[in-house]
Amino acid sequence: MGALDLPGLIQGEATNSLVWRHWLDGLRCHELSLQDWLPAHARLVIVAPHPDDEVLACGGLIATHVAQGGQVLIVAVTDGEASHDGTPSITRDDLAWLRRNERRQGLRLLGLRQPAVLSCALEDGRVQRHEQVLLGRLMSLLKPTDVVVSTWENDGHPDHDTTGQVARTACTARGCVYLAAPVWMWHWATPGDARIPWGRLSGLPLAAEDGLRKQAALSAHRSQLCPRSVDLGTVLDPAIVERAAWRTEYYFV
Ligand SMILES: [Zn+2]
Repeated sequence: MGALDLPGLIQGEATNSLVWRHWLDGLRCHELSLQDWLPAHARLVIVAPHPDDEVLACGGLIATHVAQGGQVLIVAVTDGEASHDGTPSITRDDLAWLRRNERRQGLRLLGLRQPAVLSCALEDGRVQRHEQVLLGRLMSLLKPTDVVVSTWENDGHPDHDTTGQVARTACTARGCVYLAAPVWMWHWATPGDARIPWGRLSGLPLAAEDGLRKQAALSAHRSQLCPRSVDLGTVLDPAIVERAAWRTEYYFV
C-alpha cells in the first residue's frame, strides 16, 4: 500500500469479507483455467505499484506458476516508502529498504528461490507524475509471449490506477495477455455495485498449498501489518488480510 493520505474511496470501513464471499459464490463468474492462458514456458510479469501488491493482487497465481516451473518477473514501480508518512517511527529511506526486503522474503515464500525484481523506484503516491518513465520501462522489457498482471485501473488508489492504465497500454502495444487485479476495490465497492464491470470478472481457483503460500507471503510484510506508531494503526486492515485467505483470486479479463 502507498501513501498515508489515501483518497476518499479508500477511507472508512471495508466491505465485510464474508459478505463478499457469500455474494461471489452466487455470482458464478467465469472460471480461469491456467493451462489455457498461462503455459509453463510463459513469463509471468507482475507490475506492482507497492511492495505487497504482488501478493494481494495475485500471490496465488505466482505460487501456482512457480510450482509448474514458470518464470516470474516483478516490476517494482515504487518501494512503498510513503506508507508511514506522518509518523516518527521510521524514515522514508529506511522504510524503502525494509519494504524491499519484506518483498523478497514474501516472494521466497511464494516459491521463488531467487526473486527477479526490476526496480523502477518511482515516488510512492506520485506514480502519475512519472507515467511516461514507467511506460518506457514496460515497452522495452515486455515480449508478446508474456502474461502480465497489474492492479485494476479503477481500483481507487492513484498509484494503482496509473500503474494499471500504463500496464494495459503497454500490453496492448506489445501484444501481451493482460489481466487486471482489483485490490482496493473490495474495500470500497459493495456486492452488485453498478460501478464495477462484473461481467468481465473471472475467478482463478487456488490449490490449498498455493493459498497457504499466499497467506505466508503476506505475513512477510510486517511493516504493513504492525501499528505504525502509538496513535496510528496498521496500513493493512483485518479485512484485506481476510481477503488474502480466499481460495479464489479474481481478475478483470
Ligand atoms: Zn498498493
